[in-house]
Amino acid sequence: MKLRRTAAAATVVLALAVTATACGKEGSPDDDKNEGPKLSYKVNSAADVKDSPVWSKVKGGKIKIGTKADQPGLGYEDPGTEKRSGFDVEIARMIAADLGFDEKHIEWKTVPSEARETQISSGGVDFYVGTYTINDERKKQVDFGGPYYLAGQDLLVKKDSDIKGPEDLKGKKVCSAAGSTPLKRIKEKKYGVAKAKSQQGYQLCVQDLNNGQVDAVTTDDSILKGYAAQNDGLKVLGKPFSEEPYGIGLKKGDKALRDAVNDAIEAHQKNGDWKKAYDATLGKSGLAAPTPPQVDRY
Ligand code: GLU
Repeated sequence: MKLRRTAAAATVVLALAVTATACGKEGSPDDDKNEGPKLSYKVNSAADVKDSPVWSKVKGGKIKIGTKADQPGLGYEDPGTEKRSGFDVEIARMIAADLGFDEKHIEWKTVPSEARETQISSGGVDFYVGTYTINDERKKQVDFGGPYYLAGQDLLVKKDSDIKGPEDLKGKKVCSAAGSTPLKRIKEKKYGVAKAKSQQGYQLCVQDLNNGQVDAVTTDDSILKGYAAQNDGLKVLGKPFSEEPYGIGLKKGDKALRDAVNDAIEAHQKNGDWKKAYDATLGKSGLAAPTPPQVDRY
């Protein structure tokens, strides 16, 4: 336990050092409370997405970005400093920079899985980056840029658990987040779970697992790895049983913004920012860097 905690602490120190050297560059004001361990991205001050209703409304002001706050490595907000970090946060910063918004003109909003469609449709957020699986059901309500990452549903269990894969879930209690694809999937008859407990976020599920209230937590492997890195008694099984392509949640029908977001993802994959962001975040929880997925301009 000691060792892993020390390694995690070293990671934070390293990340902070990276931040320190990145300070002062364009798009990374060092006096912003939002600033977390991050890289910096050149802000496109000539950005023009005038055919986008959402962009036209917010240009010159602040852009509201929805994300998670309890998913280390992906979307995490330090409760003490309120600094945001993680791969999703970096992807959001890259996109915001290309749309003409520096860090000071980003308003972060924590939005749990269950509230995503409502927040995007109502304009509560201008775009959303938070382990958000692209699927046809959701496309009835929102549009998606990307995908920018491919995850898969997996299981987090205690190290001494007799659960070795989804086939061992019969009669077990499993926790996942309300409004998520993993919760929906695990309720399918074939898994035979005794109880599918829903929580507002995965951090709460991890607490339930540590307290013995559930036998497993299920969601994307990318998310679970972050918790395993922080909880020495827990492990991810490493047998993904679904495909979860992550997209940028956008207001339905704003094609110009979707095109601009897709352009941004492609540009940052090409210039190496995607890989750098991955290595500085998810890569630290032991996931090998995958090849970035192909953007789907549907
Ligand atoms: N990617 C899955 C989903 O969008 C699970 C992660 C999450 O809840 O954000 O539902």
